[in-house]
Parts: sequence; C-alpha cells; structure tokens
Amino acid sequence: MRRRSLLALPALLLPGLARAQGAAPLVVASFSILGDLVREVAGPQVRLRTIAGPNVDAHSFQPRPSDAEALREAALVVRNGLGFDGWMDRMVRAAGYRGPVATATDGITPRMMAGHAHNHSHGGGAERRQNHSVGPRQVPDPHAWQDLRHGAHYVRGIASALSAAVPAQAGAIQDAAGRYAARLEALDGWVRAQIAAVPEARRKVVTSHDAFGYFGAAYGITFLAPQGVSTEAEPSAGEVARLIRQVRAEGITAVFMENMGNPATLERLAREAGVAVRGRLYADALSEPGGPAASYEAMFRHNVGLLVPAMRGGAA
Ligand SMILES: [Zn+2]
Repeated sequence: MRRRSLLALPALLLPGLARAQGAAPLVVASFSILGDLVREVAGPQVRLRTIAGPNVDAHSFQPRPSDAEALREAALVVRNGLGFDGWMDRMVRAAGYRGPVATATDGITPRMMAGHAHNHSHGGGAERRQNHSVGPRQVPDPHAWQDLRHGAHYVRGIASALSAAVPAQAGAIQDAAGRYAARLEALDGWVRAQIAAVPEARRKVVTSHDAFGYFGAAYGITFLAPQGVSTEAEPSAGEVARLIRQVRAEGITAVFMENMGNPATLERLAREAGVAVRGRLYADALSEPGGPAASYEAMFRHNVGLLVPAMRGGAA
C-alpha cells in the first residue's frame, strides 16, 4: 500500500489522469461517510466517486467492475482501514492503481474487540457456517468515525492527502478543513451535553451490531449488540438469549435497528424482551440525500436525537 511518503508523487507520473484533459481531479472514497468528509474538505475542487453508497453495508460490500474502472482516473483514494474496507485494497491492486492512498484511521489507536477476522460463508442459508477458528480472537474495531474527535482527525488526514494530490488548491482545502473540524468539535460538545442530561444508570443501548464502541467510549454509553464488529458474523442463539435476559433484568428501553443489514434478529430480540424498537440508528452508512442522516454531522444529530429520549425510557 502506498503511504503518505508518496503523496507528493508528481501528477504527470500518474497514468490516465483526467487533469491532463483539464477536468477536476477525481477522488475515490470507499464508503458514504468518507465521501461526505472529502466533499466538505475539497468542495468543488475535485470530482468525488463514493464506492459503497448510502445505506450500503461496507463490511460485506462487493465492488463491481465499473467501480474498479473509476480508479483508472483517480488522483487519490481514501479508505477507512482497520479491516473495514479491505475490498478497496483488493480493488486497488486488481486495477493496477499506483497513485496515493490515504487511510483515514492512520494515527488512531484502535479499540480491540473479540471478533472473527475471517468469516467464510459457503452458499448462504442453511449451508452458511460459522467461521473455522476456535473461539473469538481480538480484532481492531474499525468504526472510529463514531467518535467526533476521530472524525476531526479523519478530516485533517484527508486535507493533507488532498493538498498533496491537488497542490494548486492546498490553501482552500486547508481553510475548509479547519472550518469543518471546528464545526465537528462544536458538535462533539453538543453531543456530550445531551448525553450528560441522561442519568448514568440509564445509558445502555442495544443495536444490531457492534458499531458504536467508539461512540460509547467517547460519550459514556454502554452499547450491547447480538452481532460483533463485523456484520459478516452471524449472531449466535445463545448470545441473543443472553441479551434478552439482560434487557429484561436491567430495564433497558433503548433498542434500535440500523440503516443496513437484516433487522430480523433485533426485532425478535425486542419482541421477546417486551420492549419497543425505538427507530433506526445510522452506523456505517449515511442515508440517501434528503433523508435524516444525509451527512456525517446530520448522522450524529439524528442518532443523539433518538438515543437520549429512548435511554430515558419515556413512551415509545
Ligand atoms: Zn459496522
């Protein structure tokens, strides 16, 4: 993988670069949240192609040939890393892309979680098997964007990679990044104030998969999920049953679906625990434009707006 040391590679050495024809340079982002950060930082200085779009589960994403085709023209690739979008690395290799790749989580110390790094599904349905390893192993939690301070770190990394890829626009890019990071820091303060108004003993939330570990660590909420850090591992019946007992015993009222994946397990869990599903959190992907979480900032406002009353336990 090419790292920052090569970001200053002269543009003329990059094959097929559209800049030669005078078009704005193309930046390829692996998934919708990174795409939004790039758009905020770069504005109209670049053309943006987001591979895994709104409401798409990037964990299990399968790129199409046309996605790899986009890399021919790319001046910069932006990925999350920590095992979230490994298909992007395979696509970069398969397409023979030799330009810069920025990894947004570089410099962030990841949370380590019990998980299954290598799940193999064999045909799906009844033929689908659990992975072959014995017991869970520690894997990095890739969902670092769920802490707004990490989001600001993503923004600084993206700004520096963009400035190197489009040096003529570096000033505008750094200005936009500074303004955006300041907005994210203000939003971080708002989230903290909202959560602080909920009694600590009520700050427990059930979601479909372990996407909110960084959010929980940053803002003081315990998140529980029947599925691990990747949506590729099937939840076990024993884990679901244990969680139902915990929801009942602790009087947990904040139970949520996510905007991607199969809601069946979560709906059954809520039914059997006798609680209402309180709506849909946006975890790993934004909503469509015009939806409730069409940007990274809107995603936090939406999620916190649902979480706070649900944790308090008022009528659903
Ligand atoms: Zn996830």
